Amino acid sequence: MTFEDFDLDPALLTAIHKQGYNKPTPIQAQAIPVMLERQDILAGAATGTGKTAAFVLPVLQYLLDEPKRPSNPRVLMLAPTRELAFQIHKVVKQLGHNCNFPSVILTGGFKQGEQMNRLNEPCDILVATPGRLLKMIEEDAVDLTYLEIVIIDEADRMLDMGQGPDVLALLEATPGNFQAGLFSATLAGTGVARFAEEILDNPIVVQVDAPNQKSEQIQQVVYLADDKAHKQALLENILKDPTCQSAIVFCNKKERAVELTDWLQSRNVSAQVLHGDFIQAVRMDKMNKFKNGKIKVLVASDVAARGLDMLQITHVINYDIPFRGDIYIHRIGRTGRAQQVGIAVNLVERHDLVNLERIEYHLKLKLPVEKIAGLEPHFKMTDTIKKVQKKKKVKVTPRMAAAKKAADLKAAKKRIPKVRQEQPIIEEDWDDE
Ligand code: AMP
Repeated sequence: MTFEDFDLDPALLTAIHKQGYNKPTPIQAQAIPVMLERQDILAGAATGTGKTAAFVLPVLQYLLDEPKRPSNPRVLMLAPTRELAFQIHKVVKQLGHNCNFPSVILTGGFKQGEQMNRLNEPCDILVATPGRLLKMIEEDAVDLTYLEIVIIDEADRMLDMGQGPDVLALLEATPGNFQAGLFSATLAGTGVARFAEEILDNPIVVQVDAPNQKSEQIQQVVYLADDKAHKQALLENILKDPTCQSAIVFCNKKERAVELTDWLQSRNVSAQVLHGDFIQAVRMDKMNKFKNGKIKVLVASDVAARGLDMLQITHVINYDIPFRGDIYIHRIGRTGRAQQVGIAVNLVERHDLVNLERIEYHLKLKLPVEKIAGLEPHFKMTDTIKKVQKKKKVKVTPRMAAAKKAADLKAAKKRIPKVRQEQPIIEEDWDDE
């Protein structure tokens, strides 16, 4: 299949080829025809599969087919984070380069007044994060009455971040007769399904990856670490390997990311920390330096790394193993983007095993455990699992203790000869039944 098969306008085809896209990715092959048919779509596509162009292209084609001079936005594209909103806006600009449809971006982290001024100009496409947009609707600064298409990107992430009610509230500001597309890394779970039911009308469902699988272009590996010092040594070794050109190292907490960055810098590794507390300008600056290769390693928290789109990230390293499978998928999706090969490394201490098991269960995949010469762990995965199981102690709550006592008494009662059963057995012990 080629992009020409979609019957897209030459203005779009030129822009597509300028981006170096030779043929549609699987999500593009499935989603573009559905959207061109003006049907609602529920699309499951892992990050890095080319899903942004999958909705941007049909939107641009629609605007070309139905030109107007809009005083209010005709298309709304919602993203959970500013970085992702900027990423979408960039793709709108790149693919719409030859069309010049006016677009506006509204996100937190920037002066609201300046963003409001831009809305006084004509606007075809509004790209926004839900919080800022809702605030501006409440202040009557945006009119969504004339929306013709609504796209919700990374819906699962939006729900995780608690943005679901904001999205529904802001869509109430529209008459609702728009075409809608909901894109999500995973369609599994009732949250996304319910959200989709609220927003979409008889959607066509397309799914490029099975819900729990990640692109085969990502080689995933586990290294066992005895303790923090061992983990740091493994990390340093991996980062200094010549195959590692550019890496994101994930920590579960920003304090740990800061501490790890300090340590890496003390070991002469070109590293910077990126977490949600930095103001937008600083975040952008760090991301740009990372993209330009001025920083080799970005030590990041989950929220901060969202929307970071660059093809040349060779390694995603989970210094801390995430608590959930979907977060894992989002993290490793930073590498192996668009037909490139990437490596996802998991540094696993004993206490991380519970999280690793949860992720493997989510992926329906056992991740291979490897060793680095000279940095072998002092335990095997199997030893560790046994030890963890042995160590696992159930905390007995007063209620559980009372229930056990009651069960013991019941068992004792069974053992008592029939004639004595008439007599109550320490009655207060049965209160909890
Ligand atoms: P996305 O999943 O939208 O974040 O896209 C991931 C990366 O794939 C981006 O760097 C895009 O520029 C790139 N991309 C999107 N579509 C194609 C395509 N058809 N061929 C090659 N690269 C693509």
